[in-house]
Amino acid sequence: KFISIEGLEGVGKSTNVHFVSDYLFRNSVEHIVTREPGGTPLAEDIRRLLLEPREEAVDAWCELLLVFGARAQHLNTKIRPALEEGFWVVSDRFTDATFAYQGAGRGLPMGDIEHLEQLVQRGLKPDLTILLDAPADVGLQRASARGALDRFENERLPFFERARDVYLARAKADPQRYLVVDATLPLPMVQQHIADGLSKLI
Ligand code: C5P
Repeated sequence: KFISIEGLEGVGKSTNVHFVSDYLFRNSVEHIVTREPGGTPLAEDIRRLLLEPREEAVDAWCELLLVFGARAQHLNTKIRPALEEGFWVVSDRFTDATFAYQGAGRGLPMGDIEHLEQLVQRGLKPDLTILLDAPADVGLQRASARGALDRFENERLPFFERARDVYLARAKADPQRYLVVDATLPLPMVQQHIADGLSKLI
């Protein structure tokens, strides 16, 4: 099975990726944990190019194609082989983030992103997407408290509000695939919801 974990900055994504991995381990589910953009040495290099603040304005199409370039490498050299060997894959972000950030955030056409998704993924999508949902300002405050901001974290609130709306709309359109968890709840409750979702999958 392929699980992705999504959400805006500062919603507790990393903590809960660890929780998912621990839960699978305790239930003897062999799995790998990975992330996007990144997950392989080349894709991590592309991640660095994407996140570094830079003088030159980054064209949104360049950004989109780099994200999918990294994804092709990640999917074809790491995710697919792991799934074929029977491992579960847990990814910190996947293509939903592209719809949220490059689609809603940057304003690129969703239809074009769907087209790239089809070209690169050939129908492969996560079996379960855990969406950690919180108002955009909550997470942004936590993210900026964490220190140096990357190129995305420097965006203004409306960028993240648009991204959140698209995450929620996508979850609503496909309730089979998404588990939406209120990330403003106390952590033990968040993790109880996640555990319930995982237990159905195992
Ligand atoms: O998940 P993490 O916070 O490490 O992601 C790094 C950054 O990449 C985030 O600031 C996120 O907004 C950005 N990102 C993006 N487009 C994607 C995936 C991630 O802008 N498709």
